[in-house]
Amino acid sequence: MMRGSLPGLSIYALVAVVAVALAATVKTDAYVANILMQAATYAIAVFGISIVLGLCGQINLAQAAFFAVGAYAVALGTVDYSLPFWLCLLVGVGLAFASGALLGLSTLRLGGHYLAMVTISFQQILTVVLINAIRFTHGPDGVSSIGRPAGFQSSQAFLALAIAAMAISGYFVWRLGRSRLGRAMRAVRDNELAASAAGVDVFRTKLTAFALSAALGGLGGGLFAGGFSYISPDQFAFADSIVLMTMALLGGVASPVGSALGTGLLILIPEWLRFLKSVPGLYLAIYGAAVVLIVIFMPDGVWGFVGRLFARAPRAPSSAAEPLMLAPADSGGEIALEVRDLAKHFGGLKAVDGVDFRVRRGQVHALIGPNGSGKTTMLNVVTGLYRATRGAVSVDGVDLTALPPHKRTTAGLARTFQNIRLFRSMSALENVVIGAERDGNRLTVGDASAVLARARSALAFVGLEERMHQPIPSFSYGHQRLIEIARALAANPTVLLLDEPAAGLNLTEKKALHDLLDRIAAQGLTILIIDHDMTLIAGVAHHLTVLNFGKRIADGATAEVLRQPAVVAAYLGAA
Ligand code: ADP
Ligand code: MG
Repeated sequence: MMRGSLPGLSIYALVAVVAVALAATVKTDAYVANILMQAATYAIAVFGISIVLGLCGQINLAQAAFFAVGAYAVALGTVDYSLPFWLCLLVGVGLAFASGALLGLSTLRLGGHYLAMVTISFQQILTVVLINAIRFTHGPDGVSSIGRPAGFQSSQAFLALAIAAMAISGYFVWRLGRSRLGRAMRAVRDNELAASAAGVDVFRTKLTAFALSAALGGLGGGLFAGGFSYISPDQFAFADSIVLMTMALLGGVASPVGSALGTGLLILIPEWLRFLKSVPGLYLAIYGAAVVLIVIFMPDGVWGFVGRLFARAPRAPSSAAEPLMLAPADSGGEIALEVRDLAKHFGGLKAVDGVDFRVRRGQVHALIGPNGSGKTTMLNVVTGLYRATRGAVSVDGVDLTALPPHKRTTAGLARTFQNIRLFRSMSALENVVIGAERDGNRLTVGDASAVLARARSALAFVGLEERMHQPIPSFSYGHQRLIEIARALAANPTVLLLDEPAAGLNLTEKKALHDLLDRIAAQGLTILIIDHDMTLIAGVAHHLTVLNFGKRIADGATAEVLRQPAVVAAYLGAA
């Protein structure tokens, strides 16, 4: 996985060094130098959007405001307070980071589009402050004679500095996308619920993405102020936030290369169309049309489009994976999972209404019942996606009732979903890596190769190792179910919870699933399974709990429960 990217990285480093060297040595006229300065500093801010929107799927409509925070920190710090440039830049980046974190803290828990709305407000408020707090900000006149650091006093040297900063920021964003944090961000973007169930702290991940994005905005702004030595409030308006967002989308928000490309294009297109300026309106119409056409025909941006043209078929792995080891049944107490008087009401509807059951360690325990009897709701309450109306859940004797989903995953739960929830923009392997990265998995913390090895073993266990680098949409429905199971197994859980794993499978796939469940049970992993396929359930389950209308109507050894008339009437009779 890493090997293929290394030549790309050395090319990147080479291009960056050559660009900085050229900027430092070749004399350009002031006009070209200005365009380059703008492009380099804007690109840094656009990298921020590539983190928050591209990786994490959150909308930040205030990047120009964070840019302004950095710019004004450098401008006011060097001019009014005679502070050194580097200190001002650091303060600007820190302030941008802190304001991003504060905005995120206040809104990200709400989800939905609150963040977008709050960023618009922040942008507008900051603009009003920059214009009206004249004594502090110099008001609409702006700030001039902004300082530069020693050694970078000439415009040319400072441009080289800005380009170097851009190259380093771009590398940082590229690395982030491949790190555990970046993977968590992409998981949140693809499927928040599945991310939290896989152990990702969704709120903290979004908050980090947003604060990092704001910090890059501040860095770009601080360098912009030094580069142009004059700034004014009208350079950082809401429209500029839209421009920064458009740059990211135009080039391709998924990658820093795309972001840089989009920045360059959106600065250059107006220059190329300059000759049209004699006809009023025509320029804007063509400029707008060009941007709209690119976005329509290249939904992943220019870079995404180019990338697809040159995409190579994923390679199959060269070596075989280690066999997968699952949590043994012979450590811990007799009861792995206990549910006491659990209830979940939706208004007047009692979806789960005071249910008790105990799952013995090393057993396959099935939860059955007619459609709508509360099985999925039960699983959602157990894994923390829903808050219980009443009752308690414990794993290995530890009460989990108050914990959020990712903490319950840390405590030993792993699950699949009735409606498959995979991270669709990622490969099968990346999906399973996210499972393997669970805190509480007994792997050495931060050992990337152990995580990768475990993920491969889990994919091999379900028979999909050969195709591990392929993207999720290329897999059949049945195989997607297997990838979801592999993601849960890679986490090395105490209890594996499966919600209708056989639903939608054909006969062959059902037999393969049955065999897979037998192999999991043979290692002693505790399983709680929901399914309607009675052949499968009768074949794998030691113990049954039967629900009807949210209440438990039977509980006991499989063969015994299946003979009870109430069960036959409620469930088998109805089916
Ligand atoms: P099962 O998985 O046994 O088929 P569910 O747990 O999905 O049943 O649903 C049990 C009942 O709870 C159904 O009547 C369903 O409509 C209701 N229900 C499930 N989730 C919600 C929700 N988020 N809001 C309101 N009602 C819900
Ligand atoms: Mg269900």
